Amino acid sequence: MSKELIRLSNCTMAFDGEVVLNNIELSINDKEFLTLLGPSGCGKTTTLRIIGGFQKPTVGDVFFDGVRINDVPPHKRSVNTVFQKYALFTHLDVFENIAFGLQMLKPAISKEEISSRVMEMLEIVSLKGFERREVSSLSGGQQQRVAIARALVLRPKVLLLDEPLGALDLRLRKDMQNELKRIQQTMDITFIYVTHDQEEALAMSDTVVVMDGGVIQQIGTPEDIYNEPKNAFVADFIGESNIVDGIMKRDGVVEIFGRSFKCLDGGFAPDEPVDVVIRPEDVDIVEVGEGMLTGTVTNITFKGMQYDIIVDFRGFKWLIQTTDLSPVGARIGIKIDPDGIHIMKKSHYSGMFGDYSSYSAEYDDIGDASIEAEEEPEDDL
Ligand code: ATP
Repeated sequence: MSKELIRLSNCTMAFDGEVVLNNIELSINDKEFLTLLGPSGCGKTTTLRIIGGFQKPTVGDVFFDGVRINDVPPHKRSVNTVFQKYALFTHLDVFENIAFGLQMLKPAISKEEISSRVMEMLEIVSLKGFERREVSSLSGGQQQRVAIARALVLRPKVLLLDEPLGALDLRLRKDMQNELKRIQQTMDITFIYVTHDQEEALAMSDTVVVMDGGVIQQIGTPEDIYNEPKNAFVADFIGESNIVDGIMKRDGVVEIFGRSFKCLDGGFAPDEPVDVVIRPEDVDIVEVGEGMLTGTVTNITFKGMQYDIIVDFRGFKWLIQTTDLSPVGARIGIKIDPDGIHIMKKSHYSGMFGDYSSYSAEYDDIGDASIEAEEEPEDDL
């Protein structure tokens, strides 16, 4: 287990009295790939800027290796930043762009050392042979690699990356995600990455920090965040989710739409109202008579690997991903295994997410969708 390198303690940031970061507590380990993930305006960049030293928190402390660094300017922190707009020097070639920071170092380092460090970086970012190319002749992805090399050649302990792939097309973005992960592992340093793209966050990170409204909603591994979201916001932001009201009858049993379902969660008060998240891929389609619930298919979208179908359960529309085609209008039964049902505490996000009504064009035409077999005893579970 790596040791803690950076800690934000009780950090609050306000601009003109408006709080944009509220009491941030965050610990970042040495050599960790940590991603700040959230919608526009949630405070990701401000958090990054506080770590980089470009902004001082209104309240709270920043520690680096156990030392308080609130008053340490950016250039004295062992941190470097790569921005979405990489702002390379267009009058310099690739080699000169990467060497620039090294040439500014005090005390000065030898030409030989500069050359060997630049060549080493070109190798790491897969740009060997590009050293004399004009940066304007490079593709977007290659320019971004130069920007990364330029930041890494100074050997910071931490690289801050603010939406660095935002300007690239989808294919290149995916390639660069793999490249960045590889570069981070090769350099064996800490990456703190900002994105609003949940797939990117899940694919690259050791730790994901989900933010909304200036507040950290959840910190965890990609698997934790996806499988055990803390609230309806996280469940909705990280992938597709059906989120329905439930009542926790007792440990391991939740009531949804008046029917009891087995689940793996516990620790709630008897009859506590809860939010229940069910991922579209965790729902099995079965014959009507065999289903835990019965609904009507109102919409189908072919997605290549699977169909996305919208199913109406008494006016509440679920998204289900399936390889079996059920035509619009079909009555289907569904089954959900206990590990496909995840229980969350009610929060101020309850009721805001997780209903797919707007996906279905036929919504108004379906009047008779209903739940069947509601009276089955719990013993049948
Ligand atoms: P995006 O993904 O759009 O970049 P973000 O999550 O990075 O968003 P921030 O840039 O951290 O969000 O901004 C958080 C909030 O703080 C926003 O409402 C923003 O307008 C506000 N803000 C940021 N910097 C300043 C500033 N210098 N002065 C006033 N308000 C600011």
